[in-house]
Amino acid sequence: MAVEIPFRREFSFEYGRLEPVAPMIRRIVARNPSPFTFRGTGTYVVGSGEVAVIDPGPDLPEHVEALLAGLSGERVTDILITHTHRDHSPAAQALKAATGAPTYGFGPHAGGQRGDTAIEEGGDWDFVPDVTLKDGDQIAGNGWRFEAVHTPGHTSNHLCFALPDGGVLFSGDHVMGWSTSVIAPPDGDMAAYLASLDKLLDRRDAVYWPTHGPAITEPQQHVRAFIAHRREREAGILDCLHAGIGQIDAIVERLYVGLQPGLRRAAGRSVHAHLVDLVGRGIVESDGASTPDTSYRMCRN
Ligand SMILES: [Zn+2]
Repeated sequence: MAVEIPFRREFSFEYGRLEPVAPMIRRIVARNPSPFTFRGTGTYVVGSGEVAVIDPGPDLPEHVEALLAGLSGERVTDILITHTHRDHSPAAQALKAATGAPTYGFGPHAGGQRGDTAIEEGGDWDFVPDVTLKDGDQIAGNGWRFEAVHTPGHTSNHLCFALPDGGVLFSGDHVMGWSTSVIAPPDGDMAAYLASLDKLLDRRDAVYWPTHGPAITEPQQHVRAFIAHRREREAGILDCLHAGIGQIDAIVERLYVGLQPGLRRAAGRSVHAHLVDLVGRGIVESDGASTPDTSYRMCRN
């Protein structure tokens, strides 16, 4: 039986308006809706008076202007970046120029190369954090304290940011309510992604605020469903390989029934990510390197 993911897509907001969404937390949504960003990038503001901003968003001047207008009379002290995709980090530059606040992140974009064809929003190769964070690092401000949680998978440099005192986790693109995450090699890594989901199951966060879409109020149930969904997908891919279907396009054709044409390439990348993982585990082999175009088969032994 197919795994049911409890997707959440009810999302009320107004573009260009910084709005309170929970105690200590405000959000403003950028006007960059797409099949990968849902209604757009949700930029979060934590605290009041002296605030932290999480994921300033795409290079969209009107978004930064609206954010600054919403914060008039307040001071941005810290700019936190979950990962270096172009819908998350580019506006850090303008926000830093306007406020002087330092930027925090795991590190610059990694995996692949500048100019690679992007599956979703593509890498922001220009972002370099002022302060490099590793798993468990803390950032303390006026009335709030963040803990960085390294969650590679969607990208190798993905961080979630927890507010341990509030039971809150800003989950970036690692766990979203409206959709599964795109895992696109080489920077996207299925084994790392699944390990990063397991990592969240060991935590006690009560609510997740993803960068796209609404909050997740039953996070453990949601994360378990994502893990089950990927295991089910992996089983489907293994069935294809046992049946001699070893090309990614053919596997997508067989497994993704009713897929929107615009999402085919993303589905192909997901299947590729599973195949790279299966090759790494010695279960599957390929003709040559594990590229999207090669043919895959079960290891014979
Ligand atoms: Zn992303």
